[in-house]
Amino acid sequence: MSSAPTCDVSAPVQTEPDETSPASLGCGGDGPLRLMAVHAHPDDESSKGAATMARYVHEGVEVLVCTLTGGERGDILNKAMDRPDVRANLPGIRRAEMAAARDILGVRQKFLGFVDSGLPEGDPLPPLPEGCFALQPLEVAAGPLVKAVREFRPHVILTYDENGGYPHPDHIMTHKVSVEAFEAAADPDRYQDCGEPWQPLKLYYFVTFHRARFTALHQKMIEHGLESVYEERLKAWADEEDEPAGPDHEITTYIPCADYFEIRDQALIAHATQVDPDGGWFACPVEVQREAWPTEDYHLARSVVDTDKPEDDLFAGIREKVRL
Ligand SMILES: [Zn+2]
Repeated sequence: MSSAPTCDVSAPVQTEPDETSPASLGCGGDGPLRLMAVHAHPDDESSKGAATMARYVHEGVEVLVCTLTGGERGDILNKAMDRPDVRANLPGIRRAEMAAARDILGVRQKFLGFVDSGLPEGDPLPPLPEGCFALQPLEVAAGPLVKAVREFRPHVILTYDENGGYPHPDHIMTHKVSVEAFEAAADPDRYQDCGEPWQPLKLYYFVTFHRARFTALHQKMIEHGLESVYEERLKAWADEEDEPAGPDHEITTYIPCADYFEIRDQALIAHATQVDPDGGWFACPVEVQREAWPTEDYHLARSVVDTDKPEDDLFAGIREKVRL
């Protein structure tokens, strides 16, 4: 494959209407605030930042989820769905699940057309499958996202840190293409066939599964006389203390969104092949979560506007500048 910058990919072409065309979004230079969340697979949007998105949708912000791959190589993680008929049509079923989650969250969503790389397992690790997302040259992998950024014109972009949140090759590649798109989208000399330049103003990393939050959830469950499900996770962290898996990003931004935790959970459940409704995602009652940790948290990785930290709004420093 050529490594020339392009907006097209060799992956199967998506046939859905392009929901990000400027006409359908009405995004001129002014207009509503716009938030883009960049994810690797269908279901990632419901486990990272979902309540934040639901809150901003409720407040009138335009929210677009860009999903880099179709999740074709994901396992079926909910036993009740592990059936031959589901296995035979997993990509189609995951698209339908994504559509249901999208509607529950009230966001727009766009697949960017790459093929899931799968999570390699074994020792030694097997090579990644030919043609998958994580093997694309950066400029090929970033082209469709640069195009989406230039069309949707987000003020804020959310993505993963350099560790990907967890070491899935698609998550790490998602981080790389998000940083590339944030840095290149405003440059008229780059990705010249991907639309008119646009400068996003802030780039955040999700800080979702962190120790302070799980410690608070653990303590609150015990306080309520419940059996904590976080004991093992906290112990594993304590054991790892001397060998951290990667850099910890400071939380710069706490978004209050506890009123939207139920919507987040409904969106997760819509990904029925990936999420067991009786599983760990839902082991801590929502009321306990609200008391223990009522925010979703972020690290402000890049900003071209001034802002005071800690923030409680992804658009801090931006609202003043955008004419609504
Ligand atoms: Zn994923």
